[in-house]
Amino acid sequence: MTISIDPHSGFCFGVTRAIRQAEEHLQKGQLFCLGDIVHNGQEVERLERLGLQTIDYDALRELRHGRVLLRAHGEPPSTYRIAQDNELDIIDATCPVVKKLQERIRTTYNSHPDAQIVIFGKVGHAEVIGLVGQTHNTAIVIESPDDLDRLDFSRPVYLFSQTTKSVETFRLIVEEITRRRNLLFGDKPADLPPFEWHDTICRNVSNRVEEIKDFARSNDLVYFVGGQKSSNAKVLFARCKEANPATFFISSPDEITGLPDLNDNARIGICGATSTPLWLMQAVRDKLVEVSS
Ligand code: SF4
Repeated sequence: MTISIDPHSGFCFGVTRAIRQAEEHLQKGQLFCLGDIVHNGQEVERLERLGLQTIDYDALRELRHGRVLLRAHGEPPSTYRIAQDNELDIIDATCPVVKKLQERIRTTYNSHPDAQIVIFGKVGHAEVIGLVGQTHNTAIVIESPDDLDRLDFSRPVYLFSQTTKSVETFRLIVEEITRRRNLLFGDKPADLPPFEWHDTICRNVSNRVEEIKDFARSNDLVYFVGGQKSSNAKVLFARCKEANPATFFISSPDEITGLPDLNDNARIGICGATSTPLWLMQAVRDKLVEVSS
């Protein structure tokens, strides 16, 4: 029996960078983090043991003169205003990819005040809140093509995506918007208002889909390690399961109490999301070695 960890799984560049910043700044004293630094309970607990204190927006409003780390997901302008009013020292660990997306949305919003800014993303997700905030909360968030009834196709549309969404669904949304606009303006194509779409999906995530499917296929049994709150984990787990139905979602090695019947040459794979730490996948490997011996 062999047990291997997918070399492409684990923290993406943005999360690695935010955690490194947290570790560095924790050495200088008290440090707060606005929201979970990563959608992985075990990694949050590890950093909390080093002294990181996770706070919510209510606590942020009450806080004075502290040091607050902003996680890779990014924040809306209102968070920076609270920090300024409360004389907080901000350590901005917003992923540069997200920062650039925020700037693009803000610039588009400012230069096209009559347009509809549309964001393909998950309603209420931290990154999406930060993106919508660039438009004074006027952007329309759509989760699937089914939500497109909320758009007015007689007006300009500027479409962006949350960085961790599916490329295929984004393409479907572009096609559906194009179809509906053509239906409306079929006889007067010259009157079509502008429609610009920007595929702002992070390739750190989307490129992993094919890699993780290949990994799942190359193993007889797969343990996908991810946090319950991680949308990226849900997407990647679903792809793994499609590629290999013998894929199981776990958040901790403690969930492994035994192994199904496997032959002596069975291959067991361990993989995870962009929010899954390598040390946690290694702990799962250790547990599998323990229960298989
Ligand atoms: S998934 Fe991409 S955009 Fe999001 S934090 Fe990671 S590197 Fe940055």
